[in-house]
Amino acid sequence: MQEARHLQQIQPSYIREILAAATAEGVISLAGGLPASDGFPLSLMAESIAQLPNTPALFQYGETAGYRPLLAYLEEHYQVAPTHRMLVCSGSQQGLDIIARAFLNPGDGVAMEAPCYPGALQVFAMATACIHTVQQQATGPNLGELEALFASGKVKLFYAVPDFHNPTGISWTLETRKQVAALCRQYGVALVEDAPYRELRFAGEALPLVASFCPECSLVLRSFSKVSTPGLRLGVLSAPEDWLAPLIKIKQASDLHSSLPIQALLLDLIAHPQFPTHIQQLCQMYSGRYQALASALSESLGRRCEFEPVKGGMFIWLKLPGFDPLTVAKAALSKGVAIVPANAFYPNDTAPDSAIRLNFSHEAPDTLRTAVRRLASALV
Ligand code: PMP
Repeated sequence: MQEARHLQQIQPSYIREILAAATAEGVISLAGGLPASDGFPLSLMAESIAQLPNTPALFQYGETAGYRPLLAYLEEHYQVAPTHRMLVCSGSQQGLDIIARAFLNPGDGVAMEAPCYPGALQVFAMATACIHTVQQQATGPNLGELEALFASGKVKLFYAVPDFHNPTGISWTLETRKQVAALCRQYGVALVEDAPYRELRFAGEALPLVASFCPECSLVLRSFSKVSTPGLRLGVLSAPEDWLAPLIKIKQASDLHSSLPIQALLLDLIAHPQFPTHIQQLCQMYSGRYQALASALSESLGRRCEFEPVKGGMFIWLKLPGFDPLTVAKAALSKGVAIVPANAFYPNDTAPDSAIRLNFSHEAPDTLRTAVRRLASALV
């Protein structure tokens, strides 16, 4: 059967090839966005599993918005504003899809920073939205470009990843956060703040959510994939109360509700007194991996590469002036290291910058150093 028209925006085949080759024997992959498997809180999770209430209600159908005790905990500890309500989703990815399906009509304008998170590009392409990009700078989006775009009246929704962006690792400054919130308010644009990396800060001070400056026009996506395990598939969407009904309708039509026992497990885990220590240890681990990757890049590639230092998250955006990113990806793979070329992070698949994304969360420091030696040998 012929696939539906809105599916014709599929991931380009070269990305599928790289990701498939990344799992081959002997290849070191810095291509995926995987958290450290050796950083998973497995023993805390085993305790949580042992403590799951063995009651029929936990295994019955439940309410679409989420498992009530988890919602109550989230509303207390992850509250965006008193006017917001929450909806538990199967990962923040589902939350994003729900937002697009609840609020976008074909052709509606969506603004994003470029380079962009490919999973968001996919969601908005499937919703047949019209995607507008704004250049990202070291402080966040180019505000002049953003205002011009908002003033054109073409944008309904602005999708943003202000903390440790995927793919660049950039975090917006406080000033940028306030100014973007003011622009969203002034031009009546809804902000979708996607914050899956927010807890993974290993340097500098935590900054407020952009949504905290404009809660009445913001939707916030939080994810538990990076601080618990991605396999639980849990995230939470926070929205102004009067925007919740269409979101609930889509969630219900899609899967009725996220798994109740998994939500109960997550609640026990995140409420555990040791959970903050787990996050601290994870951040320390990522800091060590980032330092190892950053210093290996400087030693092996020196002036041939450039990157903005990051203060958290899982990625470095490595600029390689004069190199074609796709050619670099293929050459790197032939030397046994997988990376993702910049092309994957732009809507039309053509990258204006010569860059590649490197993940530093998944591999140990020695493996990262070996990966950089292999990458350097590919850049001749
Ligand atoms: N948003 C961004 C920016 C991401 O990088 C990812 C995945 N790494 C997601 C959302 C989806 O995360 P989740 O596992 O919560 O669905």
